[in-house]
Amino acid sequence: MNINFKRLRKINFYIFFLVLGLAASGSLEAGNKMVKDADVLSPTRKNYRFIKRKHIQYQTVRVPVGNQEFLISVFTKKGPDTQKYMNIHDSEDAAFDAGLRAIKHGGTFVALENNEDRALYSFGEKKGSTGQDPNRMFNKDNPYWPVAEKILELLDASSKKLIIVLHNNKPGGNFRIDTIATWKNISTVSGADPDPRSMVWIPGITPKPNRKITAEIQYYKSHRMNVIYEYVPKNQRGDGSLSVYSSKHNIPYRNIEVEAGIRGNRKSELKARRRQIKYLNALREYHGLK
Ligand SMILES: [Zn+2]
Repeated sequence: MNINFKRLRKINFYIFFLVLGLAASGSLEAGNKMVKDADVLSPTRKNYRFIKRKHIQYQTVRVPVGNQEFLISVFTKKGPDTQKYMNIHDSEDAAFDAGLRAIKHGGTFVALENNEDRALYSFGEKKGSTGQDPNRMFNKDNPYWPVAEKILELLDASSKKLIIVLHNNKPGGNFRIDTIATWKNISTVSGADPDPRSMVWIPGITPKPNRKITAEIQYYKSHRMNVIYEYVPKNQRGDGSLSVYSSKHNIPYRNIEVEAGIRGNRKSELKARRRQIKYLNALREYHGLK
């Protein structure tokens, strides 16, 4: 039998690249590890295509805490814009989609990986949900403070520049401007949008918004947007949220909340994303972002 080794080697060569190509089409390469993230790979949300088309760079940051390990996805795009965006609840899909699209002209988008769920999730030796709300770990005595600290570092919090955070609330849930306004130290400062689940969230260290924040609120009001103001008393310990941490450390913080879409329903996902981008665009315009 006459085996053509040269030809066989050539065929193997092609098979190798075919397999590599297939793997690459379903995941992003971060360093030497392939990462599979449903936020990126969802066929209805088309984020993988967006990342490729816009040449967005991707890396996974690993934070070990004992025998647990936490993952943070960091998307970066070089460009005129350097704004930082954050998605802290992995279950909130429109927040991810809007944050990713916000960096198309440059910037950094940080997303905490929680296995598509809300609570902090360990991918380490001790694997599974911790039950910890990641938006309540921004206190130095919290066991997951190292994760919070890494997020603050990735958001360049020490520069005291604006941090934009994106959240989604449950359809039909209690998170609406009229119910939130009954909470302690929270007030509705603009109710110009008839959609009660869309809002800009602004924390501050004065009981009422100061002059600078009042001007910003006026701007959103004229754009028919809802705005919630949270008074963060200086001597209060706080709830471990990023908004309270930011206020206490003099970091300008803005959060945009909109109602979540239905996962897997392209129309509903798109509607939620557009709602979030509309609010985000007004906020970016006010803060002079590209
Ligand atoms: Zn959230």
